[in-house]
Amino acid sequence: MPADLRVYLDHAATTPMVPAAVEALIGALSPAGNSSSLHASGRRSKALLEDAREGLAAAVGAHPSEVVFTSGGTEADNLAIAGTYAARTREEPAARGIVTSSIEHHAVLEPTEALVAAGAHVVHAVADTDGIISADSIADALEVLRTRSVRPALVSVMWANNEIGTIQPVAAIADLAQENGAQVHSDAVQAVGRVPLSFRDSGLHLLSLSGHKLGGPMGVGALIVARDAVIEPVVHGGGHERGLRSGTVPVPLAAALAAAVSHAVSVRKEESSRLVALRDRLIEGLLGLDLDLTVGGAWTPGSAHDRLPGNVHIIVPGCDADSLLFLLDAAGIEASTGSACQAGVPGRSHVLDAIGVSTDQPVGAVRLTLGHTSTGDDVERAISAVRECVPRARAAAGVLA
Ligand code: PLP
Repeated sequence: MPADLRVYLDHAATTPMVPAAVEALIGALSPAGNSSSLHASGRRSKALLEDAREGLAAAVGAHPSEVVFTSGGTEADNLAIAGTYAARTREEPAARGIVTSSIEHHAVLEPTEALVAAGAHVVHAVADTDGIISADSIADALEVLRTRSVRPALVSVMWANNEIGTIQPVAAIADLAQENGAQVHSDAVQAVGRVPLSFRDSGLHLLSLSGHKLGGPMGVGALIVARDAVIEPVVHGGGHERGLRSGTVPVPLAAALAAAVSHAVSVRKEESSRLVALRDRLIEGLLGLDLDLTVGGAWTPGSAHDRLPGNVHIIVPGCDADSLLFLLDAAGIEASTGSACQAGVPGRSHVLDAIGVSTDQPVGAVRLTLGHTSTGDDVERAISAVRECVPRARAAAGVLA
């Protein structure tokens, strides 16, 4: 099937670059200097880099000096977690506690687990069946640390979930973390440009974002680091980025990232209303198929308060997710099960386990995520394809539809 007839519904995995970002990328490719060099070419690159830093900072409500460019969301999360742990335990050896949630992305779960060997106590706050991490569940996790006489070093809770699209009460969590003397980080990779967000007002010390999730290029992201955060570098070298992330910054990627974030933030309100309408039509159309489908995660029709505007996550009992995705792909619908970042590793989703989706029969799950290229026609074609494909996927699983 020609590419232009296919329906791309995987914007949470990677969304196509927006024209403003492509333009910024191309415009910054020619100046040849290293932004650390003192000659005129270097200064030109440095000026582009600092413009990008200022643009990005303004778009997310941060100070330019708080922007640390990274290679993407995964590196930003790793720096936030390992960097905080190293700095906090150096100043206070008993501060070995890390509270995170059971529905984090692997870019947070794995670096926290890796610190266990270094003496960290990791406690996972429990999500409710809607996929929300309440401040109470963070308080319970902090209490577990207290009973073990471990001081909290870090609380890290994602702003919005990549699989089921639920939006977390970050401000309340940040308040609680601060009251308990913990540094607080949020993986906002799915949230920036999609929800109202100001780093300054968030109460966070650290926030991660990624270019390819919001209309910028792959291979670039940022960690926003509050000026009063305690953090040590993970990558050592020439001391770039306030000494927190050594390595020559890819100026064209940084320029494109800044353009993408500025664009996403500037159109967010209208785009959110447009996507909520498409999302709700898609969910209602799918639930109306009479195929025993349910929505994963919180969903309030007409609202983007508890669920990302472009996220549709459907639980399909009686079939295998991979065969359903294969059939949908053959029908021209590009979807996913959730985390493209699991690098094709099959297996149950830890997020579905965490929200208590039943495991006593095969359960497929499909994530259909809308973005700036999505249209009403895409939505109608996805509904028709699911109508055709679910019975076939169930037959393939040996369960009659
Ligand atoms: N965090 C979340 C919530 C994500 O959805 C992803 C990517 O899927 C990442 C982190 C990793 O970001 P990157 O692909 O830029 O490394």
